[in-house]
Amino acid sequence: MEERVPSKLTGKCFCGAVHYEVADEFLYAANCHCSDCRRTTGSAFKPFAGIEREKFLLTEGEDKLLIFGDQSGHNAHCCQCGSLLYSLVRDGAYVHVAMGTLVDDPSIRPTEHIFVGSKAGWFTITDDLPQYQEHVIAGSDQQ
Ligand SMILES: [Zn+2]
Ligand SMILES: [Zn+2]
Repeated sequence: MEERVPSKLTGKCFCGAVHYEVADEFLYAANCHCSDCRRTTGSAFKPFAGIEREKFLLTEGEDKLLIFGDQSGHNAHCCQCGSLLYSLVRDGAYVHVAMGTLVDDPSIRPTEHIFVGSKAGWFTITDDLPQYQEHVIAGSDQQ
């Protein structure tokens, strides 16, 4: 068996001021239909992928971040173009990368729809992924 070297993925905001690098080792990925995710992205839902914070690295434009929230949890946008790049969650231990900002194709795919109870009425889910009214596991703090 060849040992697989975990590869790095890159991502960036719309204007290119902020760049990041993340290990292709996401622990989970989902499409979140909650109203917060809809508003921060301006979209029907937010596809995001979760990973330990230390596996995520800002490589350019850290001083260009607009942080909405605090040290224990926040959304990080580019202050120039407004792209939502990632969210710091679960007391700062994990990062939820907004998958739309990835440049490279990750190994993981969203495996479920969450917060479908808050879904926009004008959007219809047309795939066969499992749907959850809220979190997948009650009491977990993924967003
Ligand atoms: Zn930008
Ligand atoms: Zn959400």
